[in-house]
Amino acid sequence: MDTIHITMPDGAIRDVPLGTTAAEIAQQISPRLAKEALVARVAPIHGPAAAAASASTGAMAEKSPDAAPEARMTSAANGEGFLVDLRAPIDQDVRLSILTPKDPEAIQVLRHSAAHLLAAAVLELFPNVKLGIGPPIDTGFFYDFVRAEPFTPEDLERIEKKMRELAAQDIPNERKMMPKPEALELYRKWDQGFKCELVEERAIEPMVSFYTTGKFIDFCRGPHIPSTGRIRAFKLMSVAGAYWKGQEGNPQMQRIYGACFYTQQELDEYLHRLEETKRRDHRRLGQELDLFSVQEEAGPGLIFWHPKGGLVRKIMEDWLRDELLRRGYDLVYTPHIMRLELWKTSGHANFYRENMFGPIEVEKDDYQLKPMNCPGHILIYKSRLRSYRELPVRLAELGTVYRYERSGVLHGLLRVRGFTQDDAHIFCMPEQIESEIEACIDFAFAVMKTFGFSEYVVELSDWDANHPENYAGSAEDWARSTGALQTTLTRLNIPFKRMEGEAAFYGPKIDVKLIDAIGRPWQLTTVQFDFNLPGRFGLEYVGEDGNRHQPLMVHRALWGSVERFFGILIEHYAGAFPVWLAPVQAEVLPLSEKFAEYAKKVIVALKDAGFRTHLDDRNEKLQAKIRDAQMQKIPYMLIVGGKEAEAGTVSVRHQSKGDLGPRPLAEFVSSLKQEVESKSVQQ
Ligand SMILES: [Zn+2]
Ligand SMILES: [Zn+2]
Repeated sequence: MDTIHITMPDGAIRDVPLGTTAAEIAQQISPRLAKEALVARVAPIHGPAAAAASASTGAMAEKSPDAAPEARMTSAANGEGFLVDLRAPIDQDVRLSILTPKDPEAIQVLRHSAAHLLAAAVLELFPNVKLGIGPPIDTGFFYDFVRAEPFTPEDLERIEKKMRELAAQDIPNERKMMPKPEALELYRKWDQGFKCELVEERAIEPMVSFYTTGKFIDFCRGPHIPSTGRIRAFKLMSVAGAYWKGQEGNPQMQRIYGACFYTQQELDEYLHRLEETKRRDHRRLGQELDLFSVQEEAGPGLIFWHPKGGLVRKIMEDWLRDELLRRGYDLVYTPHIMRLELWKTSGHANFYRENMFGPIEVEKDDYQLKPMNCPGHILIYKSRLRSYRELPVRLAELGTVYRYERSGVLHGLLRVRGFTQDDAHIFCMPEQIESEIEACIDFAFAVMKTFGFSEYVVELSDWDANHPENYAGSAEDWARSTGALQTTLTRLNIPFKRMEGEAAFYGPKIDVKLIDAIGRPWQLTTVQFDFNLPGRFGLEYVGEDGNRHQPLMVHRALWGSVERFFGILIEHYAGAFPVWLAPVQAEVLPLSEKFAEYAKKVIVALKDAGFRTHLDDRNEKLQAKIRDAQMQKIPYMLIVGGKEAEAGTVSVRHQSKGDLGPRPLAEFVSSLKQEVESKSVQQ
């Protein structure tokens, strides 16, 4: 009998008979591994030709192109081999890994098998449906069906129940090979036209691979988990319309979506996060709290800041401008439209064209709505000859820019056509880079702390050193700047991920992503070198040696844009701004008209102390007033009646902590003052 060599991940080599399966090897290693195993990864040792040869035998056929499109996410062949069923006979020397729930890529195989389970359950309940495709997706799976009646929420419940039944039966997922004509005949008899089409288009003769789950049979490349029993933590989520093959004009299908994870806990966490995402949606909160709007009449992607949103923006911007001045930046303003010629010099008219609004003709001259602030700041730098003594020059602007985005991708405050960047450009000498970078990072962390974020991810994007021809700047420029970014991050003890080849053509950069209250990352701060613009604009300074030199240029934005950061804050705080940012910090609620006079006295005391306050003097019950103030997420409610008027107190209610009892007015004012001054981010 022939023997093959199996190289395990730890380097150990096992000699086994030809045709041994990964399941058998798992069993030899430990019964526990055999029990946990979901799928295997194999990499033929003698190169891709060997794999292709084996594909035709059907044993390890994952490289064969007879794939239904659904399989593409799970078994794309790459340098590290490909995924196969545990029961696939191994027919050559391979490197083998046996994947368990600990391996992230195995989850997509589980989800693909869950899609098959869904189709099997639907067929049991609705035998006449026509089948489309069913791939895994990021958080679960879907399957497309054609059926005359729409699937109702009750149908989904029944289908999910049936899936649980079939899962409990632990039905094996079996791979079968059959000749193409036989496969077509099978689907023709079954009247599954879409599947016939897929077999016609994709199957490579002579043999076609199928998977069966009980009565369900699918033209599918696989791989799959051994049996349905491992599919435990799933939930059908929704039905949506979809076109066959995603093309408009093709038959309409009903797509059933499901969520699927290894454990119930992971599924519960995911469902909770979905709920939270909905609850925190800044578009809904923006309307409920009357913060901003997008007006169809004015055009998509253009933001109207309402008084309350405008107030929060003012507070945010005040903080930022104070910090900019304190940290040695100069504040500038530049025009919103400038000659198109300027954008030709900068190169934007060429490489950034598709993100720009079209030019505007004025007196036979073309003008351009600005998509970026950089050329404006460059013109200020260039307005006179600079000496090394003035460097670094740090020009900052809350600069409003306009960019063309397709209307389909616009999204509330997060993706817009007009926005205000908290932009700055630093012009410095090479020996100043490190301290400038460090200062930028320090500023970015101050932003995070001030606005209540504690987790973050940092990425350093470098060039692809094998293709210097694709980049502006010399190898020396890149090495020095990337080195400065890296040294600074390392010195500050900030963990980062290096992204080789991810830099823009004009320079390396650091990106900081914030992690919000429910664990979502948001791209925010960018610190980016530019080896392109200083040359294009002929920037110079007179060095200590009396000669002219080209300064280094750094673009940096901390919030990214005021609009986007505001949207992120709304979601991070779920609309309940900490007291230093809240548009109304304390609402005064008189028990009845009788106490209007004392209520006004309280308002005056608060206003005199500099607080933002509002009197709810409607003729409503206290409960209704409290409920409305809660809905508006106002941090403090001050209830005043006879007792309070007599004692000079207020009964304090906090929007998350509830009733805090009566407090002397002066005492409340001084504790509020402290809370605001410390910029506490407690909600
Ligand atoms: Zn499949
Ligand atoms: Zn810039």
